[in-house]
Amino acid sequence: KAKEAGGNQLVEFDQSYSEDAGMLLGMETELRNAIGEKELMVYYQPKVDSRTGRIEGAEALARWDNKERGMVPPGIFIPLAEESGLIVPLEQHIIYTVCEQVGEWNRNGTFTGRVSINISLNTLLQEEFLGYVTSLMKTFEVPAELLEFEITERLVMKQEEYVNRVLQKLRTLGVTVSIDDFGTGYSSLSYLHKLHVDSLKMDRSFTLQLETDPGVAAAIMSMAENLGLSIIAEGVETIEQVHHLQKLGCHSIQGYYYSRPLNPVDFEGYMSTREVIEA
Ligand code: C2E
Ligand code: MG
Ligand code: MG
Ligand code: MG
Repeated sequence: KAKEAGGNQLVEFDQSYSEDAGMLLGMETELRNAIGEKELMVYYQPKVDSRTGRIEGAEALARWDNKERGMVPPGIFIPLAEESGLIVPLEQHIIYTVCEQVGEWNRNGTFTGRVSINISLNTLLQEEFLGYVTSLMKTFEVPAELLEFEITERLVMKQEEYVNRVLQKLRTLGVTVSIDDFGTGYSSLSYLHKLHVDSLKMDRSFTLQLETDPGVAAAIMSMAENLGLSIIAEGVETIEQVHHLQKLGCHSIQGYYYSRPLNPVDFEGYMSTREVIEA
């Protein structure tokens, strides 16, 4: 079950890992070796327009399929990579893999939607970051409008001026930027107003509150509207949640209701076989 799930529900797994420091140390070495190998993969989760059922984009999510341990959740290996400095080579590998894939899909017409990549602050602060992205777009023939970067709200508030300049340069290239897990940080309106971003990803916790507390999601929606940003809801699992969001005017949806993150082959299958799901 854990193997195909790949979600956030592997609670037991998480605890057994975090309790054992020795195990973490061993994992660090294994993670270092996994980068560039087939063990480290990218899965893709569709982003769907709930009005038409059209797949408008996808999010690229890192997956680590360790020989002995099986699927290690990103909630474990991303923090480990951040603490050990492996996050930069890891994300270089992810960006490379996604650009190669997006170029291929775009050329053969399999998928021509935008694909977003999660990046950490460390990656964004690398001097070579923009040059790296630009050269990959050239090598793999990736139109800039097919790439997006997601940065979490928590991180975007650090080193804000430098970060904002990098975001601005990305957007000059034609790449879009979104704020991930939006609503969990404490960005002020005036700060958000200055920030060079295109969209907000409403954190899953607000999707979970839709039934009991729709006012919170509504407030986030009107904030996005006032800032002229588009909005997408994440972690949407039920038709009821889709309907709540539609009532609020949020039509971009990502979550298990439409699909779990899929490996590239399954994603291609999903693209070609699925019927348009209307809500
Ligand atoms: P995120 O960027 O907020 O990604 C969404 C997470 O929610 C993913 O978890 C996805 O599998 C999960 N999810 C999607 N739909 C649903 C749903 O309907 N219900 C539930 N319960 N969960 C859903 P995942 O893949 O385990 O990734 C966790 C986090 O790890 C991501 O959260 C992201 O912050 C981070 N991550 C993954 N890949 C990378 C990466 O390459 N770089 C960085 N910096 N972070 C990454
Ligand atoms: Mg994300
Ligand atoms: Mg998110
Ligand atoms: Mg999230």
